[in-house]
Amino acid sequence: MIYLGIDVGGTSIKVGVIDGSGNLLIQGEAPTLVGRPFSEIIRDMGACALDVLERGGYAVSDVAAIGVGVPGVADQQTGMVVFCTNLGWHNVPLRTELQKHIDRPVFIDNDATVAGYAESVYGHGAGSHSSVFLTLGTGVGGGIVIGGRPWSGFHGVGSEIGHMPMDIEGEHCTCGNDGCLERYCSATAIIRMGRQAALQHPDSALYAACGGNVDKIEAKTVIDCAKDGDDTAMKVFRRYVNYLCMALDGIIVFLDPEVIILGGGVSKAGNFLLNAVRERLKDYILFKDLPYSRVEIARLGANAGMIGAAMLGKKFVEEA
Ligand SMILES: [Zn+2]
Repeated sequence: MIYLGIDVGGTSIKVGVIDGSGNLLIQGEAPTLVGRPFSEIIRDMGACALDVLERGGYAVSDVAAIGVGVPGVADQQTGMVVFCTNLGWHNVPLRTELQKHIDRPVFIDNDATVAGYAESVYGHGAGSHSSVFLTLGTGVGGGIVIGGRPWSGFHGVGSEIGHMPMDIEGEHCTCGNDGCLERYCSATAIIRMGRQAALQHPDSALYAACGGNVDKIEAKTVIDCAKDGDDTAMKVFRRYVNYLCMALDGIIVFLDPEVIILGGGVSKAGNFLLNAVRERLKDYILFKDLPYSRVEIARLGANAGMIGAAMLGKKFVEEA
């Protein structure tokens, strides 16, 4: 049997055919074109899935389950996408709509949750008791796996780590609150802090790297300049690592997972980030004499969403 993993984001719909061992056999992609009626987006998800199956020489009847990762909140029981800001979806019957085009069992969960599930099965979390996956991108997403099961909480919002409050008078967040964790721990936060620092230090390598136009500063610009030893960029990077370690410590004191996996765009900084985080995190740890969560960089990259969605489908259809 094979499994279909669908990763639907604000830009693209990605569909992968995955075998029972988590190997990505063939994949396809279509533009999401946000703003269309949900029925059209879901029709394209179905068309993309059928196209991928045909190209791979598979029949619809070969598909044991379809898993879908969405950038929002899903209700596993009803197959509804309750809330999805990026897609503008509110109470969308994704399961029943998708089954009009491809009639196989459909399971839906948050995109970071399914990516975290993939990392917990095939990445650095393989065989672990418990793991927390963080996507450090435009925002901060979270995926929790406990005892081999994705944990989305009772109401499906249990891993919205990016919106944990961090500062009572902090930066305004897209969710409407102020001072959310993702305002300090995302790539967006590095960009904001980098641009401010560059303006304050026109003599810095960071300012020179953007040719004096700070709007061109990306997270990678800051990280590259910090790696090259620019003092201004390094101060921004250290501040970011501080925030991230506060967030990690919050996760550790609350959940004490065996492993915490860092994914998303910022994680491309690799060992430069990992070594800094491991060093700084020690200062925050409460029980200094006890072992604590291992911190790692994600291994599966951009395919984690598709693989995790498919593996979620596999898990639930086997249990059903
Ligand atoms: Zn928020």
